[in-house]
Amino acid sequence: MKILLVEDEPDLGRAIQQALSREKYVVDWVQDGYAGWDYLDSRWAGYRMAIFDWLLPGLTGIELCKRLRQSKSPLPVLMLTAKDSMADKVAGLDAGADDYLVKPFGMAELLARLRALQRRSPQPYSQNLQLGRLTLDYATSTVSVQMGQQSEVVHLTAKEFQLLEHFMRHPQQIVSRDQMMNALWEVQAEPASNVVSAQIRLLRRKLADYDCDGLIETVYGLGYRFNLT
Ligand code: CA
Repeated sequence: MKILLVEDEPDLGRAIQQALSREKYVVDWVQDGYAGWDYLDSRWAGYRMAIFDWLLPGLTGIELCKRLRQSKSPLPVLMLTAKDSMADKVAGLDAGADDYLVKPFGMAELLARLRALQRRSPQPYSQNLQLGRLTLDYATSTVSVQMGQQSEVVHLTAKEFQLLEHFMRHPQQIVSRDQMMNALWEVQAEPASNVVSAQIRLLRRKLADYDCDGLIETVYGLGYRFNLT
């Protein structure tokens, strides 16, 4: 799941990015409001949530919220701020923010707020995603596969987990490498298209250990298709 973070304090931005990456989110982090808007404007369909600091160079977090809502984006937004007066909270919520976190805060609280936003977002996420023999558990970030009577945990890296989730959300559809990159890689990473192929090879190899080799099919010239067996 991809998140846009707009935060101009380098230490805090880095700490948030690291904490979210550990939870298997993909985070694009930019440090000023104009860059934030550029990312949103061209890519908001790829983001599932956004975190805006209130005071930013360029556009403020409030202005980002207003622009998003004017463009009819339903993207859930969490505002970060040192302000905690009632008038400021009202201004933030009126601008279209969904929730509000006052600095300083602990990463555990940030993660809990994001999970709550996720639950309330227009495409609600349940705790599990189950398809065929595979079950993806969001609470523990694990994937298990049904093997006869029992289920076994498949040990995946964060990127493999994200890839598999993306496939499981788009079963029987052709997904191109560009779509994968847009949805699952941070913009700064600028990966070559063979990065996607390489990751998919690794994921396939792991799935093959559980007799799931045929799940991800290469559709030549177009991309990949996740088949239900
Ligand atoms: Ca700031």
